[in-house]
Amino acid sequence: MVDFSMSEEHKSLIETARRFTRERIIPIAAECDRDSKFPMDVFKAAWEIGLVNPCIPDEYGGSGMGELENALITEQLAYGCAGIQTSITANQLALTPIKLGGNDEQKKKYLGMLVAEPVLASYATSEPDAGSDVAGLKTRFTQHGDDYVLSGQKCWITNASFASFYVIFATKDPALKHKGIAAFIVDRDTPGLRVGKKEDKLGQRASDTAQIFLDDVKVPKANLLAPEGQGFKLAMETFNQTRPDIAAGATGLMQRALDESAAYAKERKTFGVPIGQHQLVQAMLAEMAIRIEGTRLLYMKAAWNLDNGVRDPMTSSIAKAYGADSAMATAVDAVQVFGGNGYVKEYPVEKLMRDAKVLQIYEGTSQIQRLVIARQILA
Ligand SMILES: Cc1cc2nc3c(=O)[nH]c(=O)nc-3n(C[C@H](O)[C@H](O)[C@H](O)COP(=O)(O)OP(=O)(O)OC[C@H]3O[C@@H](n4cnc5c(N)ncnc54)[C@H](O)[C@@H]3O)c2cc1C
Repeated sequence: MVDFSMSEEHKSLIETARRFTRERIIPIAAECDRDSKFPMDVFKAAWEIGLVNPCIPDEYGGSGMGELENALITEQLAYGCAGIQTSITANQLALTPIKLGGNDEQKKKYLGMLVAEPVLASYATSEPDAGSDVAGLKTRFTQHGDDYVLSGQKCWITNASFASFYVIFATKDPALKHKGIAAFIVDRDTPGLRVGKKEDKLGQRASDTAQIFLDDVKVPKANLLAPEGQGFKLAMETFNQTRPDIAAGATGLMQRALDESAAYAKERKTFGVPIGQHQLVQAMLAEMAIRIEGTRLLYMKAAWNLDNGVRDPMTSSIAKAYGADSAMATAVDAVQVFGGNGYVKEYPVEKLMRDAKVLQIYEGTSQIQRLVIARQILA
């Protein structure tokens, strides 16, 4: 049976996230964007009221919510600022491989850490020469008795500057491609691990993005998350679970673009009438609404699949690709509705356009999503 109604719990969760966004995120979003500053106090406040790490299972002390609830929160936070939302929700990218591949001890320790304190964690596959081509990563691990030693470089890592631990993908030998990849949980204070330059980004500037250098970093066997040959699969399965959330963020960003555009279209007059009375402006508003509705339905279906044990990477990728591309198109249209005012920082829509762009890049570019989708069509 198909049921599009929201439960009372869902409505209450949305209201909590919406109020938090209105009171804590919207007032500081422009300043955090301008100064490229992640508001740690806002992260802590979100954690206090249960908006962070919602999918940690009850048995590890979490609230045991599903991917749908996670996505509903993300949509609301992204309405306020996609950069702040990305940093608040990025723990999901680090905790998902632990949920999927970790043993009981690892889950107790690391999921428990996220439950006990408002800390951040990062997920690291990307490297200077391996972004889309995850199987091409070059960070190496070698086994020394009961320990592993990691050496290499990661880049573009969300929250790297603040993370308490990292899920790091490394290979025994780059020539083995996906067959050589393993995954490790690495504590931040491990000798040899150094966080590098923070990126000065076009958009989502409130979100921290930095490099990680690994110089003979000794990792105990207890922190091996996926053995050689299993790391690549774990990385792909993680993306399958987290991509719907990118679509949820895209939905929040687009809803903001539409609300701002509709309000402006009622006020701004040209040729003696509000611009909202011009049919070509109406068409842009209608297109925004079409994309919002499409993306919202897609992320909900993809999240429902995950919560109900239906393995369907195609829908996750369709949600991500459609959502990201729609967000970019919608933010560009919002700037167009505002005319010259859309092009300056006194108005909120130029930030939406800058923030939207990375949705087409991180967690698999829009091109890579199409490859995933086509592969399944042709399988
Ligand atoms: C703000 C930000 C945050 C990020 N956070 C994280 C993070 O937390 N952890 C992490 O591991 N990574 C993270 N990333 C990295 C991100 O996942 C990569 O940037 C992304 O996967 C693309 O890789 P690349 O930048 O190396 O581009 P490339 O792989 O070099 O791609 C360049 C272009 O070529 C296209 N392309 C590549 N291969 C193909 C192909 N086979 N067919 C068609 N087109 C192709 C791409 O679509 C793209 O348009 C982040 C990136 C950014 C910008």
